[in-house]
Amino acid sequence: MCLQESTLLQNSPQYADDELLPLHYLNDLLFCERRFALHSVEQIWYDNRYTTEGIYAHRRVDQTANLKRGDTRRVTGMLLASYSLGLIGKADLVEFRTDDSSGASVQPYPVDFKRGKKRRWDNDDVQLCAQAMCLEEMLKQPVSLGAIFHINSKQRREVVFDDRLRQLTTDAAARLHEIFRTQVTPQAVWKSRCKGCSLLETCMPRVWGEQKAATEYLSGLLFASRNEQG
Ligand code: SF4
Repeated sequence: MCLQESTLLQNSPQYADDELLPLHYLNDLLFCERRFALHSVEQIWYDNRYTTEGIYAHRRVDQTANLKRGDTRRVTGMLLASYSLGLIGKADLVEFRTDDSSGASVQPYPVDFKRGKKRRWDNDDVQLCAQAMCLEEMLKQPVSLGAIFHINSKQRREVVFDDRLRQLTTDAAARLHEIFRTQVTPQAVWKSRCKGCSLLETCMPRVWGEQKAATEYLSGLLFASRNEQG
């Protein structure tokens, strides 16, 4: 049985209403676990150019609307929840398309709006896949495809919700709950994406990295001198 079928057959919720976490946290978590913890556990947040552009990009699709265009019904700002993943959130857009091959059946197709050009990021794909898994749990029907709409290039990139992506999404949701439960903020590790992070000045990943290296260097010296004396 593939992961998609087993997900659909799950009907025992793992999480209660008050344990559901915002679905968009997944994006933060996969960008950087420390950033997620600083934001959601320590309540530290600053906007920069990129986060402000993201908010601006979502302003139209944050409002709930239900429109019909041809054979497709388009619902924006649709509320979503999954009790097996422990997530709650909103879909920017869900298209309900009539499936030509089966006639009457209607296929939900989530679309997430992202600033920037057409590029592939696992964190975007996981966030979209989580929306698909919420829809499956709520509507009790498979959702196999969706798309990221890249606002700058005005292009859609279709995403297939395969077993690899579903596993990544399930694992990320579990990690989200683990950090939230333990309230432990992971240590800073400098990486190239830190340059675009709005929490760079608070987080100081280079300083933490140098401090860690210095501590390891001093521990090494202490260990060597003890060995010489012994
Ligand atoms: S600066 Fe780097 S390590 Fe710190 S929160 Fe941002 S991405 Fe994570």
